[in-house]
Amino acid sequence: MRLSRYFLPVLKENPSEAQIVSHRYMLRAGMIKQSAAGIYSWLPLGFKVLKKIETIVHEEQMRAGHIPMLMPTLQSADLWKESGRYDDYGQEMLRISDRHGRDMLYGPTNEELITDIFRSHVGSYKDLPLTLYHIQWKFRDEIRPRFGVMRGREFYMKDGYNFDLTKEDALHAYNRHLVSYLRSYERMGLQAIPMRADGGPIGGDYTHEFLVLADTGESEVFYDSAVTDLTFGDRAIDYDSVEQCQGVLEEFTSKYARTDETHDEALFNEVPEERRRVARGIEVGQIFYFGTKYSEALGANVQGPDGKQSPVHMGSHGIGVSRLLGAIIEASHDDKGIIWPEGVTPFHCGIVNLKQGDGEADAACESLYEALTAAGLEPLYDDRKERAGGKFATMDLIGLPWRITVGPRGLKNGVVELTSRRSGESEELSPEAAVQKIVEIYANHQTGRGF
Ligand code: ATP
Ligand code: MG
Repeated sequence: MRLSRYFLPVLKENPSEAQIVSHRYMLRAGMIKQSAAGIYSWLPLGFKVLKKIETIVHEEQMRAGHIPMLMPTLQSADLWKESGRYDDYGQEMLRISDRHGRDMLYGPTNEELITDIFRSHVGSYKDLPLTLYHIQWKFRDEIRPRFGVMRGREFYMKDGYNFDLTKEDALHAYNRHLVSYLRSYERMGLQAIPMRADGGPIGGDYTHEFLVLADTGESEVFYDSAVTDLTFGDRAIDYDSVEQCQGVLEEFTSKYARTDETHDEALFNEVPEERRRVARGIEVGQIFYFGTKYSEALGANVQGPDGKQSPVHMGSHGIGVSRLLGAIIEASHDDKGIIWPEGVTPFHCGIVNLKQGDGEADAACESLYEALTAAGLEPLYDDRKERAGGKFATMDLIGLPWRITVGPRGLKNGVVELTSRRSGESEELSPEAAVQKIVEIYANHQTGRGF
């Protein structure tokens, strides 16, 4: 992409409404624009990152054997009346009536709808196990929408639902989700710690929330610092293996890590004092096993091998896709702007031309642009006739992890400058070597072309 032809409405001033750094930088970098309280338009740069995060979530869900689909945002109230949640859900549910006076709602979650789909089409254990998911906009009429996309009213969420014959099978699905979530967050450059949580209105005895540690997080968390040493890495995992998934769950959840809702002071005090931490965290996902709560309410039964009918065992599993943009920025920024992890960066590399209009500099930039594009990467070429200082400030603000700077002086010696946004370190390389290095960096990050 050439910056002269892109739409990147960068703001020079700090917007006064933004209280936390991720909200501030998302507005300043021209990623989002508020349209009403807690409702945002996703401008091109924000949309690109949103889609990258969504792609990672899809890839990791499908890798775990979960099946993508799409349910609507607007739902009929009938199923919610059947499950009893129409009255229970309270004011967070946006209730609408259509021209015929029928009660509708903008879905805050989809347990009812998916259970209805299931009961209409599945009746036998032979069709299990089954996990269906979608990534769709949700609406919750939050009393205090704030912090930009972190607590919106309209937000983008992956929600998945497993259907299993027995509790044992459903717990395997739970563990499988835990593993797939660990992988997803790591690919986004995030550490998200599974913590024992509370079921809330969805209910259920087994539930973990995934929290990204950040001072601006809304949840108070208590943990053994040893949990922050754990990484999933690139280990191979067989998602069908009960033992392997169970092993990962045990590894990642056996140390003390709880949200304030489930915190137990006595147990916490058993953690060696120097490892006890009280901090704040951002909830970026949650997994639940809730057994037969919805299948009983809605009559979703399956026939077992013994010919008997029983309610199907279920769980639901959510990732806050739009909230993740804020969480990643909270975890990765400095005073000049965002620092995108390679796995989600909107463009792989910036190209800054220090002397736009200079024949040699222009030609060198064009050939870098072509070489990176031919390698399957997406560069952002700042080809505007602007001062170098302004170009650097924009690149720093929008946070591309790598920048190639091209100027007539370097070109005389046959070099360009490659700079890491994270470390600030630069090296002089031939243009070919710079391209080669960028290609190698991204070879270690499964990366896709954005929108
Ligand atoms: P919270 O406790 O933050 O209100 P929740 O526990 O009600 O969230 P879930 O039903 O578990 O949310 O939804 C799954 C994920 O969706 C959450 O882990 C979170 O990342 C995201 N999410 C929930 N509410 C919002 C919101 N208002 N804005 C943005 N993302 C949200
Ligand atoms: Mg939750």
